[in-house]
Amino acid sequence: MRSEHDPGAFLDRDGVINVDIGYPHRPEDFRFIEGAPEAIRQLNRHGYKVIVVTNQSGVARGLFDEAAVEHFHNHMCAELARHDAFIDAIYMCPYHPDGQVERYRADHPDRKPGPGMILRAQKDYHIDLSRSFMIGDKESDMKAAQAAGVPGYLFKGGNLVNLIELILKQIGRPLER
Ligand SMILES: [Mg+2]
Repeated sequence: MRSEHDPGAFLDRDGVINVDIGYPHRPEDFRFIEGAPEAIRQLNRHGYKVIVVTNQSGVARGLFDEAAVEHFHNHMCAELARHDAFIDAIYMCPYHPDGQVERYRADHPDRKPGPGMILRAQKDYHIDLSRSFMIGDKESDMKAAQAAGVPGYLFKGGNLVNLIELILKQIGRPLER
């Protein structure tokens, strides 16, 4: 019997969806990774819940605040909408154990390589982890995936669509929409 739960595509943000210029947080600095909108559109079409899981230690470091992150995310989602692509949810970890901002100075389970954000999204969105995967550009993303029990795919640059097509070939297309 088919699970009623959707599969999830957990995506790191910086270096996977947008170019990582080092703590990007201004909408004017937002630039898509090649193929990112199309890759996300394909995931939408194949029935994946697209969940962004992003460490933003810049908040703990006092470089920008949570409102700036939200503003950046609104811009990102608006840009995706222009390409008929959408993200189902964004989980953001502002904490860092060495943060300068006391409120955010913590060794939080959400911070990758911890699996906290993936596991919270699984509960919130009833995601079937057995049909899910994670894409990131760092080893900490791969460790978070492993800790959550989903396959991790390291994005090494280039066009994100190529990696998505490889993954869909390997783990299947859950649903054609
Ligand atoms: Mg990254």
